[in-house]
Amino acid sequence: MQTLEKTHPKLQVLKNRLTEINDIDSATSLLYWDQATYMPAGGAAARGRQLATLRQIAHEKFTSLEIGQLLDDLATYAADLPYDSDEASLLRVTRRRYDRAIKVPSSFMAKLSQHRAESYEAWAKARPENNFAIVQPFLEKTLEFSRERANFFPGYEHIADPLIEASDYGMSTASIRVLFHQLRDRLVPIVQKITAQPIADDACLHQHFPETQQLAFSLKVIERLGYDLKRGRQDKTLHPFMIKFSLGDVRITTRVYEHDLNQGFFSTVHEMGHGLYEQGIAPDFEGTPLAGGTSSGVHESQSRLWENLVGRSRNFWQYFYPQIQHAFPNQLGQVPLETFYRAINKVDRSLIRTDADEVTYNLHVMIRFDLELDLLEGQLAVRDLPEAWNDRYRSDLGIVPANDQEGVLQDVHWYSGQVGGMFQGYTLGNILSAQFFAAALRAHPEIPEQIRRGEFNTLHQWLKTNIYQHGCKFTPAEVVEKATGSALSIEPLMQYIQQKYGEIYGL
Ligand code: ZN
Repeated sequence: MQTLEKTHPKLQVLKNRLTEINDIDSATSLLYWDQATYMPAGGAAARGRQLATLRQIAHEKFTSLEIGQLLDDLATYAADLPYDSDEASLLRVTRRRYDRAIKVPSSFMAKLSQHRAESYEAWAKARPENNFAIVQPFLEKTLEFSRERANFFPGYEHIADPLIEASDYGMSTASIRVLFHQLRDRLVPIVQKITAQPIADDACLHQHFPETQQLAFSLKVIERLGYDLKRGRQDKTLHPFMIKFSLGDVRITTRVYEHDLNQGFFSTVHEMGHGLYEQGIAPDFEGTPLAGGTSSGVHESQSRLWENLVGRSRNFWQYFYPQIQHAFPNQLGQVPLETFYRAINKVDRSLIRTDADEVTYNLHVMIRFDLELDLLEGQLAVRDLPEAWNDRYRSDLGIVPANDQEGVLQDVHWYSGQVGGMFQGYTLGNILSAQFFAAALRAHPEIPEQIRRGEFNTLHQWLKTNIYQHGCKFTPAEVVEKATGSALSIEPLMQYIQQKYGEIYGL
């Protein structure tokens, strides 16, 4: 941070307290990472309790009178600092979080944490058994908790607003509805035109690709893209995620299907995008509330930028295709690059969000967003959710899940988190990924040519300078404005989709 002699002595005390809380949070994260990677099933009940205990301690420490007093004492000092200085930002962000956190009792946080762990266990059993009845009572309870949580923030316009604001600061149900409506109107005709054509043949991706070779290849790629393995590692899990214990230890997890090359490779690049964001945060922010991404939407923009705008581009594969052919000579040796490129960009009406292509993906998100609102508003009962889900897939995507496993049970979010605020970040991320990429290309028109040569540093540095290094110093709207020169807009995404898929499908 800034020069020590200028720092207010109480700011140092505050930073010390915040670092202690950060250390407890990091220990919590490590327990969670272990639970999701290596922990034997028998550890589940105790682990749920341990996580709840640590979360409660961290919450109590953060919402203590001492932190409130320090923030009050530093208010005048903060007012004289320039808005974008590190110290002013730390005080501003901490104040905002503190004001939110004190509204929620720590006993509620502990109950919620314990419930989430139990609900996750129920879901992990219900999904393979294809049995929604197992999770129904847990989800009913989750919905109650979600409403209770929202009601700690009275004065909202819509009950989902406080839940949305917690992950995408500055957004609301109303603003997202407008945005999603615009996007939907533009996407649906494109989906209709593409799906009226014969479906692309992606058989080349569904041969046998041994796990070890897949993992080795994707690790080589992400290192080339800029992921620092001295400050990170990759492990296997059920539902891939990125997690940070410190700025020097930002890990990713992945899953590999031996008969689907898409899954492992693109989810690795996706999580790496999240990882690059966290690895790129200014080292001075270590241990403070500034050392994290600014919102779920901006975070997702980075995973999607690397996964899709880079990783599914023709330029990218002009460099990497000979390498993947070399890794899998029997499977891909005879497959032309163009066939592979079309296979990884196949557009199809599908059931699973995480497997969906770039054109239909946002329709999957909108279904979940609307269902969350219906549940919170009390328009939809949990027991009717599977049917409502299937109805929406029928009307929006023209297909119906054969069972709940590929329907309402597919995503972990409602079963380990809350109902509300869980899904909009994905579409915000897609919108922003194109907006940030377009801005990077305006600043450095040579980026596509560099990608074709396997050079990613210019792009990586631009993202680091304009987004990553700031951590959550700035609000999402400020980051977007500073980095791209305009407010959030769906136009860059629509231009990207029209250009790319217009070319592939001759629209
Ligand atoms: Zn993601």
